[in-house]
Amino acid sequence: MTLDAMPHTPFEALLDAAVDGIIVINDQGVIEIINPAAEQLFAYQNAELIGQNVSCLMPSPDSDRHNSYLEQYLSSGIRKMIGIGRKTVGKKKDASEFPMYLSVGHIDGVSKTNFVGIIRDLTDQEDKEQAILQSEKEIRLLRERLTHVARISTMGEMATGIAHEINQPLTAIATYAQASRRLLLSGATDSSDLLEALDKIDAQAQRASRVISSIRQLSKKHGLICKDYLCVDLISEVVALAETYAHEKGKEIVLNLSQIPQDQQVRVDLIQTQQVLLNLINNAIESMLPENDKPEFGLNNDVESVVEQSASSNNILILVKPLDEFMLEVSVVDQGHGVDKAHSEQLFDAFFTTKPDGLGMGLSICHSIIASQGGDIYFNDNEFGGSTFSVTLPISIGQQD
Ligand code: ADP
Repeated sequence: MTLDAMPHTPFEALLDAAVDGIIVINDQGVIEIINPAAEQLFAYQNAELIGQNVSCLMPSPDSDRHNSYLEQYLSSGIRKMIGIGRKTVGKKKDASEFPMYLSVGHIDGVSKTNFVGIIRDLTDQEDKEQAILQSEKEIRLLRERLTHVARISTMGEMATGIAHEINQPLTAIATYAQASRRLLLSGATDSSDLLEALDKIDAQAQRASRVISSIRQLSKKHGLICKDYLCVDLISEVVALAETYAHEKGKEIVLNLSQIPQDQQVRVDLIQTQQVLLNLINNAIESMLPENDKPEFGLNNDVESVVEQSASSNNILILVKPLDEFMLEVSVVDQGHGVDKAHSEQLFDAFFTTKPDGLGMGLSICHSIIASQGGDIYFNDNEFGGSTFSVTLPISIGQQD
């Protein structure tokens, strides 16, 4: 029975108008009815399919197994397809394949059993999904490449700095070694001078090694492993780590998380973000050495409410608050010497330091890490005469408004 051969009943009108492909087969899998949408999908003429086994519209192995599925269902009621919709693959006349969603129903007639298959072409949808996946992949790759390029170009700018930084300890090592040699040759019996020179050689060698390892860290092309973390946990762990050094220097770290919900999450690389925050806190501690005569927390107005408990010039405040619906701001508020206006442009440059033993790599590495997470790092003078260094961290996608 073909649709063309039949008078136009409401049922046939429905088949003709259906957007989805509709195919009716008998209990042997032989095609009895096929609507125009299905003809078009499989690129056959109606007459070519009527009387054929429906397995000709399936690629292997489905085509080989189809008849046994039907027999199994009819004898035992075990369903492989019938009554269940699923994503599968169709085969066109030219043997090309396309993704489709197939639902099969069982029609119990008076004298015979039929099955009706409804087919939806998923080509467009899969193309779209593929396109989205592809562009997500490309964005990720691009971001990784950009981060790497940014690091490498920073490296380029650093080349002269590196030579200088490594040369300094090497020159010092050579000088101390020569002095030790002279001491030994002169037959001096007092070993304390010699020990002092050896200690200095050791310290300079360690400095050179620190320079090299921080350069390696900056140039490493590490893919970020960004996951969702509870902000409270992430920051509390950093504070616990920083406290040893803070207490050693007579400083207290005060954590204020009152402006974010307890379950606030951020999507970051945990270790690298903690490294950034640790670095900012250590810098804050160092900016307060030796003690400067600064106004104390509690003297200012708007921050006063959140820092009431920090009314001591020895305190460093970590303040966390939402910046907008996508970003959280973590600020490290110190009461140190502040940033000299003349240096404000250079702080994030590699090897810029104002500390006698500084490497000047910390903020440069922090900048690189935060930027690769899509965040920002900046600083301001604060009302305590010190500086506030802030980073922004992406809020977990599920928690963005
Ligand atoms: P380092 O600590 O080895 O000097 P950094 O890159 O971490 O390297 O810092 C670079 C410079 O930025 C410091 O030497 C200091 O002059 C300035 N700086 C960083 N943090 C602070 C701060 N909290 N207050 C004032 N100055 C700061």
